[in-house]
Amino acid sequence: MSATEHDAGSTGRDVAASGHAAGTSGRNAGSTGRDPGSSGKQLVVCQTIQELRTTLSGIRVDGRAIGFVPTMGALHEGHLSLIRQARDHADCVVVSIFVNPTQFGPGEDFDRYPRPLEADLEACRRSGADVVFTPVKEQLYDGHSYFTFGIDQLADHLCGASRPGFFQGVVQIVNKLFNIVQPDVAVFGQKDYQQFRILERMTQEFHQPVHMVMAPIVRADDGLALSSRNAYLSDEERVVAPSLYRSLSYIRAQILDGVDRPSRLLEHQKEELRAKGFEIDYLGIYSAQTLQPIEWFEEKDTLLAGAVWLGNTRLIDNLLL
Ligand code: AMP
Repeated sequence: MSATEHDAGSTGRDVAASGHAAGTSGRNAGSTGRDPGSSGKQLVVCQTIQELRTTLSGIRVDGRAIGFVPTMGALHEGHLSLIRQARDHADCVVVSIFVNPTQFGPGEDFDRYPRPLEADLEACRRSGADVVFTPVKEQLYDGHSYFTFGIDQLADHLCGASRPGFFQGVVQIVNKLFNIVQPDVAVFGQKDYQQFRILERMTQEFHQPVHMVMAPIVRADDGLALSSRNAYLSDEERVVAPSLYRSLSYIRAQILDGVDRPSRLLEHQKEELRAKGFEIDYLGIYSAQTLQPIEWFEEKDTLLAGAVWLGNTRLIDNLLL
């Protein structure tokens, strides 16, 4: 594969000439066989910030919109739907694959988190990504952070309550990635609704010129929300795993049927889930804006969300009412 074939955005600039194209690191995922605004595009894989900046500078000069999908890899159809959404909003789609250590607590699954890089690159290529950023940790963290991010209220409940430091880590890494990629549009999944709300608020409060798009949850046929962590489930656990979604759906149906004070309903569903072997982290109803628990069902902007453990696997899911 010749150097120019690695050009991500058909800027007319030879990315490889700077020694930064994917081919130079032996990580080219091949031709996309697709033409969303430039012909004969190839997937460019950048391992360093400098490579990425060089690759994207031509695209920016051309006035092309950059779409961004941050991920931790082990990509599934949920991630790929985000890439396709980004494709709809932007001329050049950048995907980052980085298992961010600062959002894992002690004893969490950082070490065993799946990292199937070659399959991920192929999936990115198939889904219409133009550039994949795969930094090593040292590219993003130089050993010490003098700055931490406090999050008021939005991280008090839901996953923020049970995973202290998690959202601080998410805000830290997404901030870094936004500064590096400087996207016009970023796409995140509703699957991690609290994450979306916090990051959306971050862009508003810090005047970051990134249009935030939330993509719907992609599910397996039996309703289980797709997640990289589903790979941890045993065959038996996989069979019962959709119960969380079924409980949420049942609660939603009851609420829409007129139950306006759902605490008994929630307790009952928690019991049902426990009987099936789940340990409940939380299952509740929250304001979709403030992420505070609400006692009474409100017509609009209500989030029904749950997190459960099934063996060693933590599952989360939600529905917006
Ligand atoms: P992760 O790799 O788990 O950090 O996820 C990267 C992005 O993919 C986040 O914006 C997630 O919300 C999103 N995502 C994960 N699972 C799904 C899913 N089943 N449907 C839609 N988006 C998802």
